[in-house]
Amino acid sequence: MNGDTGSDALLDLVREDLRGFGGYASARTYDLKGEVWLNANESPWANPADAGGASRRYPDPQPPALREALARLYGCRPGQLLVGRGSDEAIDLLVRALCVPGRDAVLVTPPVFGMYAVSARLQGAPLLEVPLVDGDAGFAVDLGAVAAAAEQGGAKLVFLCSPSNPTGGSVPLADVAALASRLAGRALVVVDEAYGEFSDQPSAITLMARHANIAVLRTLSKAHALAAARIGSLVADPALVRVLRACQAPYPVPTPCVELAVAALSDEALARTSARVAQVRSERARLRQALATLPGVVRVYPSDGNYLLVRFGDPGAAFDRLLAAGVVVRDQRAVAQLGDALRITIGTPDQNDRVLAALDAREAAA
Ligand SMILES: *Cc1c(COP(=O)(O)O)cnc(C)c1O
Repeated sequence: MNGDTGSDALLDLVREDLRGFGGYASARTYDLKGEVWLNANESPWANPADAGGASRRYPDPQPPALREALARLYGCRPGQLLVGRGSDEAIDLLVRALCVPGRDAVLVTPPVFGMYAVSARLQGAPLLEVPLVDGDAGFAVDLGAVAAAAEQGGAKLVFLCSPSNPTGGSVPLADVAALASRLAGRALVVVDEAYGEFSDQPSAITLMARHANIAVLRTLSKAHALAAARIGSLVADPALVRVLRACQAPYPVPTPCVELAVAALSDEALARTSARVAQVRSERARLRQALATLPGVVRVYPSDGNYLLVRFGDPGAAFDRLLAAGVVVRDQRAVAQLGDALRITIGTPDQNDRVLAALDAREAAA
């Protein structure tokens, strides 16, 4: 790594007042050995509802078995990975640790997942918006405009969602790398790969050896079907991971969730998850083709995620017809550039058939 892109330059991106901040020193902070643990005011007895007593003690802040399993899954080293309460928590930690309120901006590319803007607002960080461009191949990031706006607006964080929610497209890795080079020493480029499992494109984690100012968000909430367990990961330079850990809650991941996640990362469970992902991908192709033939459908965007963005001639009627059939989809009509669009999550084959039947105007008229 050269000086421009290494850990030292990266730590310069952290808020000055947080450099050297150690965070809360919990009972778990001290590496002591013993047999009788009377240092954390825990109960010596298990709760009657807690069979096995796994929840009696405070959890390890970053459980090694989970961290190692996630690192294996994502192809990084455990020291590069921070586990938290969903990737939502990692987004919030990044904004809080890097952005001085009223000064350091967060750049987003709307229409896009709303949590980046929410975290920026809560931190008092200026928000820079560089809209996606709606082209023949779908919505795409305007890389030149992003780089220029980030430089001019003093962005500390640039969030790229890839595959993007709700528009479905991926940001080419070469573009991520070029942006990271251009913004080295100025900003961290965060690639949110919440839907990475559904895409053919390799993870931006593969770029991190050359670009310390790239961080990647992953989650077990979507492809791994564990949204309620709230297990998200940030993969980043180990020096940045240490800074964020100091800013995080003392015990961020509950033991029952850790146990569930570790079980979900066994070879057998992962093989079954992969089969489900393949099924979603084939249903995505089928649904996209079928939707495109329906009369009221104006455009179905290509998608690398587990959802389709669809424009309708009469989006309100489509939404209502789906609702009348008991199918709830995500209304995008209040979103700039998406005034006629709905986002439809890929369901089971039966559920997808229900979507198609509800939307088929010819059937409704008959
Ligand atoms: C769903 C989603 C997340 C949130 O994931 P959690 O790990 O459940 O917090 C993050 N980013 C995008 C783009 C999402 O769609």
